[in-house]
Order: sequence, then C-alpha cells, then structure tokens
Amino acid sequence: MSGDLRELYQQLVFDHYKRPRNQHVLGQATHHAEGHNPLCGDEVTVWIDVADGIVRDVAFEGGGCAIATASASLMTEAIKGRPVADVERIFEAFHRMVTGKDGGTHAGLGKLEVLAGVREFPLRVKCATLAWHTLHAALERDSKPVITE
Ligand code: ZN
Repeated sequence: MSGDLRELYQQLVFDHYKRPRNQHVLGQATHHAEGHNPLCGDEVTVWIDVADGIVRDVAFEGGGCAIATASASLMTEAIKGRPVADVERIFEAFHRMVTGKDGGTHAGLGKLEVLAGVREFPLRVKCATLAWHTLHAALERDSKPVITE
C-alpha cells in the first residue's frame, strides 16, 4: 500500500471515530445485541430493523477505541438497505480481510477496506470485528452478550 493511500485510510477511520454515523438508539429494532471486547474495553450495542429480509435500518451505541468506533460506524453504512444474506457475506469477507486471509484482494468491501491495516495488529482485529460479531449475534437472536475471546 502506498503512503498516500495509507494516510487517506487513516483519515477516514479518524473521521468515523470523531463523527460516527448512525450512533443512536434505534426505537424500531427487530433485533439487538450487546458486545464487549475486554482486551481493549470496547463496548457496543447494535440495533437492526429487518423487514422482508432487508436491513431497513441499523444503529449502534457505545464504541470504545478509534478502531472499534470507526468499524461500527462503517458497518452501519455498509449494511443499511442490504439483504440479510449479503450482510453475512460481507461479514465473512471483512473477517478474512482483517485477519489477513483474503490474500489482500478485499473484493467487494468498498469503504470497509480502510480497516485492512488492522491485520498487522492482532489485538486490534478484535476491536475491528466487535460490532460485526455483535450484529451477527443480533441477527441470530442470541441475547447473550458477545465477548470477543
Ligand atoms: Zn478497541
């Protein structure tokens, strides 16, 4: 990755940390779950409103470090309006990217690609995936809090 691109990515992550998108309680939610990353202290609650297999709305509260907050914010933008089946596929692709298992292709991830750099920092992978694991738990209707360990 070139230095310019890396810098752009850092700015985007910082922007989503300072001005998180969709960070509020969602009154009309069909699913929600809480997640906690004890290694870093990140805590997030994810709400999602699903109708006819489509993510009509999604929001989160909490956050934590810059990576956890930015990742939750980017996640809400990435999945809003998408079919639930796509959400699972995006989560799997995102997980392969941040764990370095996608061979650096990041296919179909769009803006989520700005978090690709966390694969160089194993502890940060849990920060980046917390919101996604929590979303997954919400979709599974699993009310147990998620602990990323
Ligand atoms: Zn964190």
